[in-house]
Amino acid sequence: MRGDEVLEDADVVVKDNRIVAVGKRGTVSVPSSAKVIDVSGKTIVPGFIDIHPRWTEIRRGVLDLQNWSFLANLAYGVTAGRDPQTGTNDTFAYQDLVGTGEILGPRPYSTGPGVFPDTDFQSLDDADDIVRRYREFYRTTYLKSYLVGNRKQRQWMVMACKKEGVMPTTEGSLDVKLDLAHAIDGFNGNEHSLPITPLFDDIVQFWSRSGMFYTPTLIVAYGGPWAENYFYETTEVHDDPKVRRFIPHNIVDARTRRRRI
Ligand SMILES: [Zn+2]
Repeated sequence: MRGDEVLEDADVVVKDNRIVAVGKRGTVSVPSSAKVIDVSGKTIVPGFIDIHPRWTEIRRGVLDLQNWSFLANLAYGVTAGRDPQTGTNDTFAYQDLVGTGEILGPRPYSTGPGVFPDTDFQSLDDADDIVRRYREFYRTTYLKSYLVGNRKQRQWMVMACKKEGVMPTTEGSLDVKLDLAHAIDGFNGNEHSLPITPLFDDIVQFWSRSGMFYTPTLIVAYGGPWAENYFYETTEVHDDPKVRRFIPHNIVDARTRRRRI
């Protein structure tokens, strides 16, 4: 890709699951043995990476041989994501199943189960024990420090993560002062919108220079309505053929038959 350049009427050549050539129709060499798929009228874009998906529709304990939410994510162009708090470690098994090609899905990275305020740790060594468990046994490089302890304990969590090569994200929690402290203390991410508007340049500059990622989720808006409801109110989500193909009907019904207006 070159910036926002759009190629109309193009050929894409894929070999061994990788794009090897892209160009205007007829300008790239296509092997004579290539399988040709006609995608006239379609738009091809790079895969989307969702940094706050919820892989919660997975079956737990006994795993699904194919999971509908993975298929639905793929159908809408999401090819990778990082769930910042799964509530279960089954997600890691699904990550392996996708990675080995056993099932179809976006690459479902995750933090695994969050570390919550009920996790008791009283020293940097205690924090390191927790983080090391995630790195060694869950083999994840992400961790959700979900409003653990007091500020000192949160700093221990950040220090332990840096030592273990794990990226800690945390919960915005409708508290802008807490969010700013997360940036000062070195967290890699802060989930959800900052709960004030407008944001002035002091906060914008501070935030960007901290290097912390900020995930302004559209669903949990912290201070505004869930953006998902906009689509239920203004479009016929229930009758959308793509929604109906990839999402179970009972789930579509539960969300669309009563509208908040
Ligand atoms: Zn229905």
